[in-house]
Amino acid sequence: MKVLKFGGTSVGSEEAIRQVAKIVQSQVDQVVLVTSAVGGVTDQLVKIGEVAASGDRVYISHFEVVKVQHEQLYYNLIENKPDEKFYKIIEEFEDICKGVFLLRELTTRSSDYILSIGERLSSLIISEFFRNEGIDITLFDSRQYIVTDDHFGHANVNFKETTKRILEAKDSFSKVSLFPGFIASTEDNQTTTLGRGGSDYSAAILAGVLVADHFEVWTDVDGLMTADPRMVKRANFIEHVSYEEALELSHFGAKVIYPPSIQPALEKGIPMTIKNTFKPDQKGTLITKEWDDSKQLIRGISSIKDIALVTLSGSGMVGIPKFSYRFFRALSSAQVNVILITQASSEHSITVGIDAKDDKLALRALNEEFKELISNHSIDPILVEKNLSIIALVGNNMRDQVGVSGQMFNVLGKNGVSIKAISQGSSERNISAVISKDDLSKALNVLHESFFLYSTKRINLFIIGTGNVGKAFINQLVQQFTFLKKNHQLNIKIIGLANSRKMIFEKDGTPLSKWESTLSNGAKFDKKDFMRHMYDMNLRNSIFIDITASDEIAATYPEILKKSISVVTPNKIAATGPQVDYHNLKSMSKKYGSRFLFETNVCAGLPVLSTLNDLVRSGDQIHQIEAVLSGTLVFLFNEYNGQTKFVDVIKKAKELGYTEPDPRLDLFGSDVKRKILILIRESGYTCEYDDIELNSFLPDSCMESSSVEDFYSKVEAEEAHFKKLYEDAQAKGARLKVVAKYKNGHGSVGLEAVDAAHPFYNLEGKDNIVLFYTNRYSDQPMVIKGAGAGAEVTASGIFADVLRLSQSDI
Ligand code: ADP
Ligand code: ASP
Ligand code: MG
Repeated sequence: MKVLKFGGTSVGSEEAIRQVAKIVQSQVDQVVLVTSAVGGVTDQLVKIGEVAASGDRVYISHFEVVKVQHEQLYYNLIENKPDEKFYKIIEEFEDICKGVFLLRELTTRSSDYILSIGERLSSLIISEFFRNEGIDITLFDSRQYIVTDDHFGHANVNFKETTKRILEAKDSFSKVSLFPGFIASTEDNQTTTLGRGGSDYSAAILAGVLVADHFEVWTDVDGLMTADPRMVKRANFIEHVSYEEALELSHFGAKVIYPPSIQPALEKGIPMTIKNTFKPDQKGTLITKEWDDSKQLIRGISSIKDIALVTLSGSGMVGIPKFSYRFFRALSSAQVNVILITQASSEHSITVGIDAKDDKLALRALNEEFKELISNHSIDPILVEKNLSIIALVGNNMRDQVGVSGQMFNVLGKNGVSIKAISQGSSERNISAVISKDDLSKALNVLHESFFLYSTKRINLFIIGTGNVGKAFINQLVQQFTFLKKNHQLNIKIIGLANSRKMIFEKDGTPLSKWESTLSNGAKFDKKDFMRHMYDMNLRNSIFIDITASDEIAATYPEILKKSISVVTPNKIAATGPQVDYHNLKSMSKKYGSRFLFETNVCAGLPVLSTLNDLVRSGDQIHQIEAVLSGTLVFLFNEYNGQTKFVDVIKKAKELGYTEPDPRLDLFGSDVKRKILILIRESGYTCEYDDIELNSFLPDSCMESSSVEDFYSKVEAEEAHFKKLYEDAQAKGARLKVVAKYKNGHGSVGLEAVDAAHPFYNLEGKDNIVLFYTNRYSDQPMVIKGAGAGAEVTASGIFADVLRLSQSDI
């Protein structure tokens, strides 16, 4: 004999019920069938009860909706008007609602009566339809067989009496025997329910008592998944799981099975399967006693969305054992179910997690219990915190593994999810954490990605700046997207994108192929709105990329890092501001688990800063730095040969796009100063911009100019000066390079004539070069050399930072 349970969505429509008939018809064994109310109806019934009790006549129209919905279903399936039995239930339904309306009171008892209507109507319709289809079926009223106490709303089963009655009924079973789920009654025939989602339990009780060969739960998903598929799109299907793990998962919110329903199957060792009504050929999840797949550390991640934390604390409770006893007794007599418990080892406080809807009940019960102690200040007033969720990792194999909780909290921390309470079950089969409800979706997804390696990791980018570098970056992303997804399991999406005019947000990612047109139709850019949107979306693995040269945008980094969103930027402003601000950014990112990466601040895409960081982190010490850091200046002095005027070389460089729009910024040397400043700071030294000595190669007359044109004419007037610099170097067999240095604790920038033996002598085109003299590289410096400017290489440096973050836990 098999017990088959079909949930609300499986009987939610005419087509679904026809599908259920097919599944039942295909069974060889004798079948005990348990069905829920039509999907959504129980919720509607809850509402009708509440509206009627509030004295609002509108309940009548809600009542009509439910009535008509069932009449229609009856008519469509049975092709006849509903019969007398149907209208008898409707009449009872109407009467009880009227009673509640007149009395303006909804007791748990009348509520259960109203709720029972859903299962009673659906089972009647299904049984009559199945009979029409030629199925040998008998409908049993579960209220006569499942006996409970009078704890309405969530009644407790009297197993002795229930077993007796079900076994008696067994003799009159047909090929298919249908029992409505969820409903039961007290010994004196008052209708009760087994708690929301309780149809699973009704079926499990029948399976247990009848010692069924198999217990199947048919629903609207393929089986038990590694997380709620509604919250985690990439949740994986679980093929096989132990009763214990299934129990933990469902206890912590995997709604697909109601937790108590596993117990009867577990006790009798009846194998359970969770199957999809709409894909009956799929295998479904098998739940059995022994199942220990050692490969899988975590079986799944569950969550309960709405909980409250209740804390009892105060110096008066230290070491006195009765406190916790009284605390739990008070909660238990108020029928408040405790989901999670934590107690500080100082015994200074006990905190429990409860269903959010019980918060007032709990508070009342505890205030009453501890009235005197609160009033004489021995203990603090009971503290209730709301808007919280529980997230739990579940898996049999966790118990032998070190570091699971470390990984869990590390990943959550890096994503800015703060943890209010932690609890690890003594079975070590679950680790749970209480977090803010706003962070739930992010936490579930990020943990899922971290523990289920085979799923791709989603990276969410927020980009401001679509100039040359910005464009090149997005184009590189477009080109690499498929490769990264396939080979590195990275799914990098642009969620927010803006330039100085427009901005767009797309929760599932901007279509990469048409980002330009989408952006041009976006909303007007507003920095504050952009930031607010990014924070409100609260997505995991978020990275903010500033590809502007704006100081206003740079000023937003501290706030962004504080929200645990990492920042990647080629914008040098933040890293070269006052040392205190630089320091503040570094400590922000440490504190909030975010990262601030600016590899492209120095030598564009060359891995200068990452190499320097690796040296420093691994304990090396930087003594001296020598570098040519401006590709523009390399180009100018390579091109200049005393024949063409220096000013014309500058103009050519500008035309080729090798200079800043205002070439003075390159020629004054301030950009090089900023770069050496960053190298000094990243080497671990304190330094301000003004501490760096600048020996300009420009004559004084060129340092003050009212415009670019004015600057050009001043440079032209000084041609003799530049020619002399060139010829003097030439005479010594040397070449001119603008060299940045850090030596003897001092930073400087200046023009030097380097001879043929010097590594800088052969620097070509716009190349940059950096020499690091360190403890480990003391005789021969470490050399990094290559193209140090250009949109493509800068974009690839930004890309490298993004990948660096993506491959860590962000
Ligand atoms: P039924 O009406 O069939 O009883 P429910 O809505 O009660 O169905 O339960 C099925 C739902 O449980 C799924 O649609 C899914 O959204 C949710 N769910 C939550 N956690 C999980 C999980 N870990 N695996 C599968 N489903 C889950
Ligand atoms: N119909 C009930 C509910 O919605 C029972 C169930 O579906 O299991 O809670
Ligand atoms: Mg259910």
